[in-house]
Amino acid sequence: MAEHESLEFGKADFVLLDNVSLEEFMANLKLRFEKGRIYSYIGEVVVSVNPYRAMNIYGRDTIEQYKGRELYERPPHLFAIADAAYKAMKRRNKDTCIVISGESGAGKTEDMSVTSVCLYRVKNMLLKSNCVLEAFGNAKTNRNDNSSRFGKYMDINFDFKGDPIGGHINNYLLEKVGVKSVFKCIFQLVKGAPDAQLRSLHIQRDPTAYTYIKVGGQIKSSINDSADFKAVTDAMKVIGFTTGEIQTVYKILATILHLGNLKFGSDGDVTLIENSKLVSVLGDLLSTKDENVEKALLYRTVATGRDVIDKQHTHQEASYGRDALAKAIYERLFCWIVGRINDIIEVKNYDARVHGKNTVIGVLDIYGFEIFQNNSFEQFCINYCNEKLQQLFIQLVLKQEQEEYQREGIPWKHIDYFNNQIIVDLVEQQHKGIFAVLDEACMNVGKVTDEMFLQALNGKLAKHAHYTSRKLSPTDKNLEFDRDFRIRHYAGDVAYSVVGFIDKNKDTLFQDFKRLLYNSSNPVLKAMWPEGKLSITEVTKRPLTAATLFKNSMISLVENLASKEPYYVRCIKPNDVKSPLLFEHERCKHQVEYLGLLENVRVRRAGFANRQTYPRFLQRYKMISEFTWPNHDLPSDKEAVKRLLQGCGFEHDVAYGKTKVFIRTPRTIFNLEEQRAEMV
Ligand code: ADP
Ligand code: MG
Repeated sequence: MAEHESLEFGKADFVLLDNVSLEEFMANLKLRFEKGRIYSYIGEVVVSVNPYRAMNIYGRDTIEQYKGRELYERPPHLFAIADAAYKAMKRRNKDTCIVISGESGAGKTEDMSVTSVCLYRVKNMLLKSNCVLEAFGNAKTNRNDNSSRFGKYMDINFDFKGDPIGGHINNYLLEKVGVKSVFKCIFQLVKGAPDAQLRSLHIQRDPTAYTYIKVGGQIKSSINDSADFKAVTDAMKVIGFTTGEIQTVYKILATILHLGNLKFGSDGDVTLIENSKLVSVLGDLLSTKDENVEKALLYRTVATGRDVIDKQHTHQEASYGRDALAKAIYERLFCWIVGRINDIIEVKNYDARVHGKNTVIGVLDIYGFEIFQNNSFEQFCINYCNEKLQQLFIQLVLKQEQEEYQREGIPWKHIDYFNNQIIVDLVEQQHKGIFAVLDEACMNVGKVTDEMFLQALNGKLAKHAHYTSRKLSPTDKNLEFDRDFRIRHYAGDVAYSVVGFIDKNKDTLFQDFKRLLYNSSNPVLKAMWPEGKLSITEVTKRPLTAATLFKNSMISLVENLASKEPYYVRCIKPNDVKSPLLFEHERCKHQVEYLGLLENVRVRRAGFANRQTYPRFLQRYKMISEFTWPNHDLPSDKEAVKRLLQGCGFEHDVAYGKTKVFIRTPRTIFNLEEQRAEMV
C-alpha cells in the first residue's frame, strides 16, 4: 500500500470515514495532525492544519511529484490542488480559483504563498511583491507576529501554452493604524532603518516614544529588524519603485508616527498645538508650508451659502481629525502600493488573436471568521465577508456536483443543507439590511448617535430570526450590554458593540486634509490625493460610506469567484499558543463545525465519493480482473470497466456516466485498492 493509504496516518480523505460523525472526523483530524499529515481531503477540498513548525514538504522535487497526477495517487497536498486547478484551466480553457479560508493564524497566507509559488514558476517578482505587501498589510499583534490585516485576491494570468505571464492584485484592507495593532513596516522602520535615514525623518530609534505604537500594545522586538527593513526596501527597488517613491513611502510612515504624538491644548477659546515643533517636522515630511499644516490641523473650511469661512476645531475635533488623517494616509499609501505593484505585474500587450486565450487562476487569502471579546465594525465586516464566501461555497460545491452528474447523465437527488442566504440578506439587503440602516444613520451628520442607530435596527429587525439585542431579549444572559446587538451567524453567535459604528462608516477625513496633501510639492504624495483638487464649493457629493464600499467590493469579489471553477483550502488553527504538538480539541471542533466540513463530507458522500474517467480507472485497476489484464478486447473502455466491476460484485455501488465511472461508497474504492495491492 502507498504510504498515504496506510491507516497508521488515518484516512487521507474524510469521505472514507466509516461513519460521518463529528467524533470520527475529529479523531481522524487529530491522528493526522499528530503524525505530521497536515493536509487531508474532502473530495477535492483540502483541509489544512497549521503545523507551527517547518515542514520538509515544499521543495521543487515535491512539486514535480505532483505534476500531472490524480489527487488520490499521492498524499494530500496543496501542490495537488494547485495542479488540479492548473490542469482544469489548461484542459478546458477555463478560469479557476483557489479560495483559502480560515481564522487568523490558521495558515492561510502561508498556504497561499506555497500555492502560488507552485503555480507561478517565474516567481521573483511575485515573491518580492509579497514581501512588500506583508510588511505594509500585516501587523504585529500580541497574538500573531504576522497577522494579515487585509484580504488579498490575486489573479495569475497564463498564456495559451500554460505559462504564467502576469497578474493582478485586489486588496481588501480593514484594520487601520493604531487601533489594535502596529503595521510591521512601521516597526521595521523605527527599529531597522539606518541612523542617517531615521535622522532625516526626525524619528528616534525608540518605539516607546510614539503614541501610536504604544496604543498597539506590547511588542517584542525581533533580531531581524534591520535585515527585514532592508529586504522590504530592496524588494521595492526590484519591483521598480523609484528612489523618490521609496523615500515618500517612508516619509509617510514617519508622518503617521509624528501625528500620533501631536498634542492639542487650548488657551481660552483658542485651540492650539502644544508641541508646535512637530508642525515644522510635518511640513518638511509632507513638502508643504508649516502654516498650511497647522491650519489644516486646527481649522476646517466650511461653505455657508455663498460664504466660505474658516471654522476653528474644538480640542476634541482636532484630536479626532488628527487620528482620521493618520488612518487615511496609511490606507491611501497601502492602496497606492498595491496599484504600483499592479502596474508592474499586469499583462501588457497580450494579443489574444496571436497568442490564444489568456486564462486565469485566482487565489484568495482573506480574513476568516472572527469572534473577539469586544467585536466592532471591523469584525462585522469580516464576518459578513465570511457569510458571503460560505454562501458561495454552499452553492458551488453543490452546483458543481449537480452539474457533473447532469453532464454525465447520472440521476441526482437534492440533499438539504443550511442555507445562510438569510444572514447575507440581513446584512446587505437594500433598505432594511443592517448596512442600509447604518448608511441612513450616517446621512444625518452629527445628529444620530450609535444608540439611535441601535434603536433603528431594533425597529426594523425585531422579527428577524438571526438578529437580537438586549432590548428585544432582555433575559438573554449572553447579551451583556445595552449597546450590543447579536447576529446568529452560520459560524456561531456574535455580539457586536454599536459603539463606533457610525464613525467608522463615515468618510471622516476633513476635506482640508485632502487639499493639504494634494498641494504638496512632492509629486508622489500629490498623486495619491487627486480629490484634494476640488475647492470647498465644488465638494458636494457625499463620499460612499465604508459599509457601501465594502459591500460592493464583496459582491464583485463573489461574482468574480463564481465565474471561475473553484478549489477550496480550509485552514484550521490547532491551538492558540503556536505549539506544533497541541491539538486543542474544542478549539478545532468549533472550526470544523462552522466551516461546514461535516456537511461537506455528507454532500460529497450523498453523491459519489469517487469518480474517474474510464481509461484512468483501467490503468489503475486492470490487474485485478482476468477480463482486463493485460488488455481487454471489449468494444470500449466503458464496457471493460463494467465487466471488471461486475466481476468484483460492485455493480450496485456504481453508476456509469458518459466519460466517467462514479463510485458511491469509499469502501468500494478501498476494496479495489486492497485487491490491487495484492497484485502489485
Ligand atoms: P493566517 O494568514 O491564516 O493568519 P499565517 O499563514 O500567517 O496565518 O500563519 C501563521 C503562522 O503559522 C506563520 O507565521 C507560521 O509561523 C505558521 N505556519 C502556518 N502555516 C505553516 C506551514 N505550512 N508550515 C510551517 N509553519 C506554518
Ligand atoms: Mg494571513
